[in-house]
Amino acid sequence: KTESSLSITVVGASGDLAKKKIFPALFALFYEDCLPENFTVFGYARTKMTDEELRNMISQTLTCRIDKRENCDDKMDRFLKRCFYHSGQYDSGEHFAELDCKLKEKEEGRLSKRLFYLSIPPNIFVDVVRCASTRASSKNGWTRVIVEKPFGRDSESSGELTRCLKQYLAEDQIFRIDHYLGKELVENLSVLRFSNLVFEPLWSRDYIRNVQFIFSEDFGTEGRGGYFDNYGIIRDIMQNHLLQILALFAMETPVSLDAEDIRNEKVKVLRSMRPLQLENVVVGQYKGHSKSGKTYPAYTDDPTVPKNSLTPTFAAAALFIDNARWDGVPFLMKAGKALHTKRAEIRVQFRHVPGNLFKRNFGTDLDKATNELVLRVQPDEAIYLKINNKVPGLGMRLDRSDLNLLYRARYLREIPDAYERLLLDAIEGERRLFIRSDELDAAWALFTPLLKELEEKKIAPELYPYGSRGPVGSHYLAAKHNVRWGDLSGEDS
Ligand code: NAP
Repeated sequence: KTESSLSITVVGASGDLAKKKIFPALFALFYEDCLPENFTVFGYARTKMTDEELRNMISQTLTCRIDKRENCDDKMDRFLKRCFYHSGQYDSGEHFAELDCKLKEKEEGRLSKRLFYLSIPPNIFVDVVRCASTRASSKNGWTRVIVEKPFGRDSESSGELTRCLKQYLAEDQIFRIDHYLGKELVENLSVLRFSNLVFEPLWSRDYIRNVQFIFSEDFGTEGRGGYFDNYGIIRDIMQNHLLQILALFAMETPVSLDAEDIRNEKVKVLRSMRPLQLENVVVGQYKGHSKSGKTYPAYTDDPTVPKNSLTPTFAAAALFIDNARWDGVPFLMKAGKALHTKRAEIRVQFRHVPGNLFKRNFGTDLDKATNELVLRVQPDEAIYLKINNKVPGLGMRLDRSDLNLLYRARYLREIPDAYERLLLDAIEGERRLFIRSDELDAAWALFTPLLKELEEKKIAPELYPYGSRGPVGSHYLAAKHNVRWGDLSGEDS
């Protein structure tokens, strides 16, 4: 008999994220036999619902892996039977005490492990943490809380949130989620670098000319701009997702793979960086336009966005790490909505080959001959390295080719969603992929002065057409640092 019992309470269970990501991820873990024998899932929100109604709601979004369809219906039924619902207010200790009774009933006196997933707007985080920790926490096992971004909107508000959370929780109970850290290719970054001799020796200013972190979406806010308008793309994507990937990319070799060793190295990178400066940042906002008879809206056409909003929907930035490894290497970030494509990738551009024997084969544009390593995080995960190669034949003609590891061709299995990995890690107490409070402070310290300056000076974003490649300013910014955006070279397969 297993002596412990796991409960996962999804607070805000009626919401979008819970439906789209959290319940499906929990089901996928159940499907893969990753959940313990005794587990219960509770939905908690204000909306009135019965257990059956919750089960109906979540059954709409559960899916089985493409390669494992057998017994799918049976597994879903078994999973849904473990799902329950409790309706309550977010600031009511009494309602959380009722939840506590229900949890106890399911635990049947076993050691209780309780995970709360806060899938709610940030203004109610602290209420929920207070009620959950004082009235519904485990008495004999552990209580952990997963918190979704945003973690504040600047250094002060983030610090205040951390202080409030720490009134009720210890740091090791708080799991700040950044779902980019759960993505397969981001997890693979350290494997690629530290387990292959051919990469790590090149991982420095001696061989790397610049690094680019690119995120683009091919759609706008589409009527859901209310939340976004208060944050903007810099807070929504750069300060967290792209900066986290940058820190993982640039860190020194950690002492071990333990969470604290890795997070120690990441925080050192962040603390070695210069705060962003306005002259190294370009902001943009998409405007409406018509193409082939179709009309695309401007950001400010979104009814949930103020007409005079200056919120950036695009930003590009050059960042620098002032340490021995990366001195002088530009780390470029670019993130935008309503662009021509949807992707997230890391691009590493290497230096020119000194005294290149084949110089004359490249004409005057030697930049085109440098190696580039691309990690495509999404969609269609891939790692490819651009190399120069001789075109077969009697002459000596060179061309650019890719050594290409395309995941869907190499690994014939579905890649787990980031939320699956992160939920499993939180259940197992693995903190490697969650953000520690000193990392969060260091991340805000880099961005807060810039964000304040943008807002105080009311810097108008450069307009770019919906579906375009973004503002021209981002090319000038890159050129200022002798960089060309790799995603715009037209070379990608
Ligand atoms: P949501 O649908 O707006 O909210 C989740 C639930 O919270 C709602 O069903 C509602 O439940 C309750 N709620 C909403 N507004 C409230 C308010 N003003 N006061 C009290 N309760 C309120 O949010 P979501 O899209 O699921 O996202 C959840 C959290 O994750 C948010 O903090 C968001 O910033 C973050 N996040 C979302 C995504 C995403 O892809 N959606 C990605 C990253 C982070 P009841 O009315 O039933 O109580």
